[in-house]
Amino acid sequence: MKKTFYLETFGCQMNVVDSEQIVDLLCGIGYSQVDSAEKADLVLLNTCSVREKAERKVYGHLGRFKPIKDQRPDLMIGVGGCVAQQEGERMLEKVPYLDLVFGTHNIHRLPELVQQAEEKRQRGSVTEFLDRETRLNLFPQRSVRDAVTRFVTVMQGCDNFCSYCIVPYVRGREISRSSAEIVTEIEGLVAQGVREVTLLGQNVNSYGLKEQEISFARLLHRVNAVEGLKRLRFATSHPKDMTAELIDCFGQLDKLCKHIHLPVQSGSERILQLMNRGYTSADYLKKVTRLKTVCPEIRLTTDIIVGFPQETEEDFQATLDVVAEVGYADAFTFLYSPRTGTAAAKMPDDQSMVLRQQRFERLLELQNSNSEKVWQADLGKTLAVLVEGESKQGAGQLFGRTTWNRIVNFPGEKNLLGQIVPVKIVKVFRNSNLGELTTDACGQERDAS
Ligand code: SF4
Repeated sequence: MKKTFYLETFGCQMNVVDSEQIVDLLCGIGYSQVDSAEKADLVLLNTCSVREKAERKVYGHLGRFKPIKDQRPDLMIGVGGCVAQQEGERMLEKVPYLDLVFGTHNIHRLPELVQQAEEKRQRGSVTEFLDRETRLNLFPQRSVRDAVTRFVTVMQGCDNFCSYCIVPYVRGREISRSSAEIVTEIEGLVAQGVREVTLLGQNVNSYGLKEQEISFARLLHRVNAVEGLKRLRFATSHPKDMTAELIDCFGQLDKLCKHIHLPVQSGSERILQLMNRGYTSADYLKKVTRLKTVCPEIRLTTDIIVGFPQETEEDFQATLDVVAEVGYADAFTFLYSPRTGTAAAKMPDDQSMVLRQQRFERLLELQNSNSEKVWQADLGKTLAVLVEGESKQGAGQLFGRTTWNRIVNFPGEKNLLGQIVPVKIVKVFRNSNLGELTTDACGQERDAS
């Protein structure tokens, strides 16, 4: 009988890509994926340490699997990702029923760890950081599995050390792949039916800087030229590395979607400095103005931290001012909480939790009203939607995305998958739209197929 595994993924798109690699590796050693821990021979958690109390949550989560292991002692349990990288061996000591721990640079060793656990009932942990040459040779190549859209990792790691962030400690330093390898991978994906790629990295704007490869803007030009590709996106951008050359791509490249996620984090110059972000809010706003000039239809989304150590009312007001000025389509807002080992965790701070919470709610109120204005403006319009798959809304329903990465559900036939079609927006919800196919011109992208 085929062995089975159950995998849960937490966190960012980098973890989604890592999980796709995990699936491929386990399928390569004879496992097949199942949808619950109860049915599995192997249970894996791919963890994230960005959110508050992440380690504690992972330990809590592992506790759910203990009763299953008590009943079936042969069940193997493993943890990968950023919490595994941070905690390492300690996890095996703290959780006696845990079998394997693998760090962010060691996914390729998972089959070996699983086989050790299977055959010798040996517990194992690998969390060593690899040198750049080895890492460059290990960039994940994953199978396509009928996808219309795919993430393509172009760089990994981060050298920025924003004072609140744990990522450089758990993902290691920046490395970038060669542009030739990236373009070849995308050509291969397109040949297998992929129509949209998102170029992925912790800080894509600094792509190639260390390697003295081409700039990220030039990479976008090369990918834009791949025949058969319909759309191109990228994430995540650091404002300090957002060059004029890169901004101008939004006015030049027909496949580049008119959306950018540009994390501002704070509108206060003082707090940005304490965060070690490397830009001022004035620089940030200048870049936004240029983006809107070269591409008037562009929509921006962002990340904002409220209640960073020593934030005053004046600092917070500066954040509200930036939010009002930019008019973000959406924002991921976070209440600051310290991450052990980061510089910000050692900063003195006397803000009360009540005050932070009040500010957080004021920000939410402003952003919710911005978002409503932006998305309600689409009601009744016909927009170009790349059809990605069947919708969870029910039989005969499809879903796709607009250029702004907004999900639209609409009735339609499966043969539209992978095509860009005109959809009239008939209802706008908080996080998605409802639409109907139309023959009206949408005046945006045209489907080449
Ligand atoms: S740029 Fe800053 S916030 Fe983003 S991953 Fe690097 S250190 Fe973290």
